[in-house]
Amino acid sequence: MEVHNEVDGSGVPLAVLLKRELCNQKVEKPDILFGEASKSKKGEDFTLLVANCHRTPGEGPGDNAGGDDTISMFVIVDGHNGPAAAVYTRENLPNNVLAAIPPNLTSEEWTAALPRALVAGFVKTDKDFQTKAARSGTTVTFVIIDGWVVTVASVGDSRCILESAEGSVYFLSADHRLDVNEEEVERVTASGGEVGRINIAGGAGIGPLRCWPGGLCLSRSIGDTDVGEYIVPVPHVKQVKLSNAGGRLVIASDGVWDALHFQEALNYTRGLPAEAAANRIVKEAVSSKGLRDDTTCIVVDILPPEKLSPPLKRHGKGGIKALFRWRPSDELSEEQTDNGCFEPDVVEELYEEGSAMLAQRLNVNYPAGNMFKLHDCAVCQLEMKPGEGVSVHGNMPKHHSRVDPWGGPFLCSSCQVKKVAMEGRLHL
Ligand SMILES: [Zn+2]
Repeated sequence: MEVHNEVDGSGVPLAVLLKRELCNQKVEKPDILFGEASKSKKGEDFTLLVANCHRTPGEGPGDNAGGDDTISMFVIVDGHNGPAAAVYTRENLPNNVLAAIPPNLTSEEWTAALPRALVAGFVKTDKDFQTKAARSGTTVTFVIIDGWVVTVASVGDSRCILESAEGSVYFLSADHRLDVNEEEVERVTASGGEVGRINIAGGAGIGPLRCWPGGLCLSRSIGDTDVGEYIVPVPHVKQVKLSNAGGRLVIASDGVWDALHFQEALNYTRGLPAEAAANRIVKEAVSSKGLRDDTTCIVVDILPPEKLSPPLKRHGKGGIKALFRWRPSDELSEEQTDNGCFEPDVVEELYEEGSAMLAQRLNVNYPAGNMFKLHDCAVCQLEMKPGEGVSVHGNMPKHHSRVDPWGGPFLCSSCQVKKVAMEGRLHL
């Protein structure tokens, strides 16, 4: 009698095939566990937590039997001068981003298209909000998890940090406080803004660096219609791929980071599940500094799927790694190499860009370039007739001669006005 311990006739034992299957990241998506906590003082922090929604808006939950088409989204918006911009952004930004991604892409193409779609979605949301004639503004930290790929788009000073399963820490967001970001001070100044501190009698400047007119401490935000247009909504975008040992994300508003060092925040959460971890961080932040600001935290655990467990959790052993320094493979423990299923704990950087210039951010050179429709406005997705759009490269300085000033991507006339305004050239 034949014994069916081989499944494909090639002589590969079933156990090996099963292990291969388990090791295949395409098949196995991580489990996403998350929780949030918040203490409100001004009522201007808001969050959005969406697990396992479809990449394409409007698709029902049963449309993809494999469930391979789902992403998770986590957003913190921290408003100022009222909640209107934060509320509007929370309601509209995710759809504006997803709508900017061309349909029918493979998983890899979708990942590659996301950074450009984030820029388009942020700028469209800001531009649309300007018509509401509200003075408020908001920071945004927008996290999208697609399989083991984490993409973070940020404006302002709410931060997202990642601790890999092995214990290395990575910053996934930018800090757009004028006080700490010289590059942004230079950009704002070059675009016609004035950066300085509040002057008291006698001439001494007090408080953080601010941008005038308006007096905002941030160089990027959504909203803020009454400050200079060089306070732009163009996000810093960072995209990383976790190993299938996973990691933990801590996303929090400045109420947390003004009170806690990131290492403190991580230490407080050791061994706690996501919800309890978020609660602990907010509690510690408030008890150390008092409730001086809205204090909000989301914790997201990206875990090997249950079938792959037990996860290698060795928190606190890895120390703080410089951004994207590869961990040498010779540091791998026997435990990890013997397992055979887990990859070395390497967080791989796929993409990072922080430029405020749309010409650079809507670039066609990035592999995703030709996936986007040429005659849709690259920001608001308005369909245009050939020849109607203005090239995003139209006003590039001469020394950028490698780009074609007449080539795409193209902007509709109102997005072109927005672009020129953001570059500080509207009133020249
Ligand atoms: Zn447009």
